[in-house]
Amino acid sequence: MNSARRTLLVFLGSVIAAGGAVTAAAVARGAGVLSSAPLFFWLIAALLVIAEFFPIYVPRREQQVDEITVSSSFAFALLIGFGAAPTILVQAIASIAADVARRKPWWKVLFNAGTYAVSLGAAGFMYAALGGTTRVTTVSLAATLAAGAVFVLLNVTLVSVGVWLAQGVSLPAYVLRELGFEAYTMPVLVALSPVIVVAAERSPLLVLLAAAPAAAVHWGTKLAVANAQLVARLQGSLDEMTELNRLKDDFVAVVSHELRTPLTSIQGYIKTLVQLWTELDDDQRTSFLEAADRQSDRLRRLIEQLLVVSRLESHVEPLVVTRISLTRLLAHVVDELRPRAHGHTFDIRIPPEVAVLDTDEGKLHQILSNLMENGLKYSPADTRVTVKVEPSLHGVVLTVQDEGPGIPQDQHDKVFERFYQVDQSTTRRVGGTGLGLYICRRMADAIGARLWLARSDATGSEFSLFVPERPPEAVEEPLSGAPRLAQSMTASV
Ligand code: ADP
Repeated sequence: MNSARRTLLVFLGSVIAAGGAVTAAAVARGAGVLSSAPLFFWLIAALLVIAEFFPIYVPRREQQVDEITVSSSFAFALLIGFGAAPTILVQAIASIAADVARRKPWWKVLFNAGTYAVSLGAAGFMYAALGGTTRVTTVSLAATLAAGAVFVLLNVTLVSVGVWLAQGVSLPAYVLRELGFEAYTMPVLVALSPVIVVAAERSPLLVLLAAAPAAAVHWGTKLAVANAQLVARLQGSLDEMTELNRLKDDFVAVVSHELRTPLTSIQGYIKTLVQLWTELDDDQRTSFLEAADRQSDRLRRLIEQLLVVSRLESHVEPLVVTRISLTRLLAHVVDELRPRAHGHTFDIRIPPEVAVLDTDEGKLHQILSNLMENGLKYSPADTRVTVKVEPSLHGVVLTVQDEGPGIPQDQHDKVFERFYQVDQSTTRRVGGTGLGLYICRRMADAIGARLWLARSDATGSEFSLFVPERPPEAVEEPLSGAPRLAQSMTASV
């Protein structure tokens, strides 16, 4: 056990022990009072216990809500009318009963009862020292307020020291904040106590009148807090919607730009061909047509990828889980990619024990195809693209390695973002769109897999994909702004 924890335990133990000693003394002294207590004592005591169960909610900074109880009014009424000893007993019962009902841990129950006992003991001492008597007079008023101040000071200090030792908060700042809070709540509660006593002396049943405002404040603050929380939630939704709207605008702007770029070059090549057909030689015409063809390819690819993004984000694509052979799947991908290789070799390593998997073949195919194609696109000719499959806990890890120039360290996470391209000129040259890895990640999410960039340096990059033995039952994400974004984007396409 470290020394901070030991100090905390010693402190908690000391407060509990001091509270126990004060309560024991109170039993010895207060038992007599209890045996001859009048009806209004029991009425106030009953209200004190009940009040502990019906807190008043007080909003604090940062949407925090604190609970205070009217029990302090009744506790001080008992203190003024009957002295500290019986008050400590009744308060101990009320505090323990309420804390146990709220299922607080036993040490907290005892600590709370202990701080109450110690603070009420000191308050009683102050009250008597300032000439407060069991008959309420104007002298009792000053004594009551002084006793209230002692109670608050001691209570706040003991609790703050506990929080300081447990959570390491700044003690002076915490004490000041708590005192600031008590400064406007406690006087209201404590100042009511002489009124309760005076009313009770007139007629015991008048005590019950104090229950009405207490109950009204309880329900009123409860409602107010619920409303405040509702407003905060609405404000949160509003902020979220504003942010989504902004994202949507950005997205539409980026998409329009991305679509316009290849279209503009196609138009440029065609216009040049139309206007200068006779002046151009055959080689120039062919080169212009090839360039237009490459750009149309890029445009088609971009539109296809945007449609994939849209389907992925709107969750309209169901999962089709079957038992698949990784050997066959990777052989297909290699066959598809071979025409795009420039002397690249493929090295596929699959141990026999992980050759079969339950997953969505179409989606896994697309992820591996994108990763391996990137390996070809972004690495020099005649290099090797390696795919390794390794068993892992509850699944397999597929790693796609290349011998390309790598991705700068500070952009490792960014490459998974929509439209992110490390170097636009290279990406353009190889026909990239900046959507490949984004799609891979979304697809991975859809099949319950996880994709990350395991390594990327001057010797090459290594993307790893953990695929679970079987995908989770429901992979639907909660509705976010993304689907709406994608839908509006599809419409504009
Ligand atoms: P793109 O369609 O442009 O290839 P991706 O989302 O697949 O889009 O990749 C995003 C960016 O990450 C690419 O523009 C490229 O700069 C970089 N990148 C992706 N894979 C690799 C890789 N294997 N080696 C080096 N850079 C890569």
